[in-house]
Amino acid sequence: MSKYLIKKIIQIDNNLSLKDCQKILFSEDCALGILDENREVSSYVLSEHIDRALRFDLQNLPIRIIATKCTNYNIGVDNNFREDYFIAQSPKEVEYIVITPKEQEVFINLKAKYKKNIKTHVQKAIEFCSKAADKIDLPIYLIGGAVRDIILEKDNFDIDITIQESAINFAQYLQKTYPDICMVKDTYDDFNTAKVAFNIEGEEVHIDFASTRIEGYAFPASLPVVKETGCSLKEDMIRRDFTVNSMAMSLNEGTFGNLIDYLGGYDDLKKGIIKILHPLSFIDDPTRILRALKFSVRFDYALDEFTLHLQKECLQNGLFDGLCTERIKSELKQTLNLNKADCYDRILSEDIYKLIYPKIDPKSQTLPQGQIIEQIINKHTSHIKNKDLVWLIYLGCLFADLDSEEVGMLIKKLNLNSVETKILISGNTILKNKDSLLQMQTLFEVYEFFECHFTESILMALAVTKDETITYYIEKYLNELQFETINTTGKTLLEKGFHPGPEFGYILRDILKEKINGNIQSKEDEDMFLSTIQQANYAD
Ligand code: ATP
Repeated sequence: MSKYLIKKIIQIDNNLSLKDCQKILFSEDCALGILDENREVSSYVLSEHIDRALRFDLQNLPIRIIATKCTNYNIGVDNNFREDYFIAQSPKEVEYIVITPKEQEVFINLKAKYKKNIKTHVQKAIEFCSKAADKIDLPIYLIGGAVRDIILEKDNFDIDITIQESAINFAQYLQKTYPDICMVKDTYDDFNTAKVAFNIEGEEVHIDFASTRIEGYAFPASLPVVKETGCSLKEDMIRRDFTVNSMAMSLNEGTFGNLIDYLGGYDDLKKGIIKILHPLSFIDDPTRILRALKFSVRFDYALDEFTLHLQKECLQNGLFDGLCTERIKSELKQTLNLNKADCYDRILSEDIYKLIYPKIDPKSQTLPQGQIIEQIINKHTSHIKNKDLVWLIYLGCLFADLDSEEVGMLIKKLNLNSVETKILISGNTILKNKDSLLQMQTLFEVYEFFECHFTESILMALAVTKDETITYYIEKYLNELQFETINTTGKTLLEKGFHPGPEFGYILRDILKEKINGNIQSKEDEDMFLSTIQQANYAD
């Protein structure tokens, strides 16, 4: 990569529009260096990024939306250039600097960590892929999250392999080479990717194959389109989200385990930093804002300074109107399912809620703190059957202030399925009906009120409510009432001479009611209650 020479550093106001910045740049200029109040070059913008932002129709937005330091460049004044290029209009304000890509000379072999962290049958499946690739002299790499997790010595169940040739052809070649144990499950022509399943000693191992690719975006937040497949590994890495997710590991014999890290991912992983790869990253794909939050909370990493700055700019300037909300849903679900208060709190404090619904009021007193939600979920974890639905409790709390119409709009926007929809609406209904709950006279009424609601909805209401009586009722329902049972069954009623029919249901329900209300405690009490009914019937 070549050096960038910035011939001009102009003390540009951060608010200068992209359009005006473009006017400042001469055709031979590669970048604008931006000085801070101490006349230090605090950030810069490459002219190629200004061009891209202008193609996105962002000409009236301020230059700061793409001002960055976060790519892998060193910035410094280079006196050698000064003589030749000095433009002495206002010497105090003109400097020459160069931006030089940082050399990332890391020679690290991950074989030992790979052997330790990747399950044996997965290793065996990968070995088949390596051997097949070696046979045709094809470089083959493990890439993305799996490499990150090998370095971190954490489990990873998604194995992504990339090659510079057609992934679909390679997958079919694998199937031909190992017909008894390998099967191509799916292929996607648009992205030239393939899903392959290996049967290793009775266990299925799934591997995703992709061709290296360059992606482009037609407008901010649009879905990426593949511009080229079979590009260099480095170009494939640059299309990715963060430095820590953009490393590869060689799977070929001789180089097996060698780390390929063009973008400084290893360093960032060691430092605990989440860093985007170029200043338009969030504008291209705002779902990366949620991904950054997810990884930062999951690994307890910090967002790099300029990544945070660019995230803020993207959210402040609303550069996500074209975003496909289905993608937001998937990332939101993964992030909130971590069940960490920090995710929820940061969605509010860092304005990330704007991606979900800009009308949420982060300062509203109605919205509970993340810590309260996390505590409630952990306390009642045994009542939550499907842990994959935990995210809806947090989401419901974010919606707590909205009216039913707005909740309906949100459900539509996020394209929630029917169970997810019911959970949210149900939580909202509990909160809307809190007055009727407060007027209830008996515990059975409380039972009847909650029995038709999902546990997740009830927990959401518990997190939101500040009313002690409602809290008491919910805790009582979750811990006791919902588990209340009676000894009498349909068989008991038959034995006692009751005529079978719909009345059976009413009688059993009546016994439950008396039990919940504390009028009946034992089996004998139930029998006594039944005799009373029988006597009343005879009397009739
Ligand atoms: P997880 O452990 O959460 O599955 P992962 O890194 O494996 O983490 P995936 O969503 O499976 O995450 O994505 C696999 C890889 O694809 C990532 O490591 C990253 O390199 C790339 N990637 C995923 N989503 C994006 C995105 N929105 N933009 C750019 N690259 C992405």
